[in-house]
Amino acid sequence: MTDRIAVCLTVDVEPDCPPYLWTWRGIDEGMPRLLDLLDDEQLPGTFFTTGGVAARSPTVVRDIVRRGHELGCHGVTHTAFDTMDRAAAEREIVDSAALLRTFAPVVSFRAPYLRFPGGLLPLLEQSGFRLDSSQAKYKRAYYQPSPATPLVRVPASVTSSVLRLPRVVRRAYLAALAAPLVLFVHPWEFVDLRHTDLRLDCRFRTGDVALRCLASVIADLKRRGALFVRMRDLLPPAHATDAAA
Ligand SMILES: [Zn+2]
Repeated sequence: MTDRIAVCLTVDVEPDCPPYLWTWRGIDEGMPRLLDLLDDEQLPGTFFTTGGVAARSPTVVRDIVRRGHELGCHGVTHTAFDTMDRAAAEREIVDSAALLRTFAPVVSFRAPYLRFPGGLLPLLEQSGFRLDSSQAKYKRAYYQPSPATPLVRVPASVTSSVLRLPRVVRRAYLAALAAPLVLFVHPWEFVDLRHTDLRLDCRFRTGDVALRCLASVIADLKRRGALFVRMRDLLPPAHATDAAA
């Protein structure tokens, strides 16, 4: 890899703003707009998708894969793993992996709410995952000791709503972050939810303005010479070869 800043644009593909809404406008209305933007930008993304979305909207998942993006796993039901017993966690991982792998090879995982107890990492290893992006640099858990694992762990750099801040604020924020820069968005952010009862940080500047913000983030990063990669492109070469098989 070159010394250009590596950027992963990741998308958590799930119902609208869980645990507050659970509707599907993001999948039906937001996703086509997001996929078209990434096509226009010729930019590969990584789509951490729930089994629930894959069961409800298989054509959306096929579209993600057809457009050249990486399909990642985001559990089945968007339940927080730190609220489940081990058997339930194993079912979530095994069932989502099996369903998603009917669409494409899947080696990358991200837990809902970016909450994944370290003791569950062996379940990911056993299910053939190679990369985990369940940590977040802006959460305290990232700085606490975690068990050793052969998984490559790539934390999210910044929470999604930061990308919707006005450009002058957002640019300063993003410029201060270390590579690889792992950004994430949700399809529901590209639907106008401003007049719902959602928490302010969920609903502010959603819809058209969110799409324009994302386009502006991408343009700024391209000006900085960013190299946009899928998460699995961060794996060591032997792993990358396996993933492509
Ligand atoms: Zn999620």
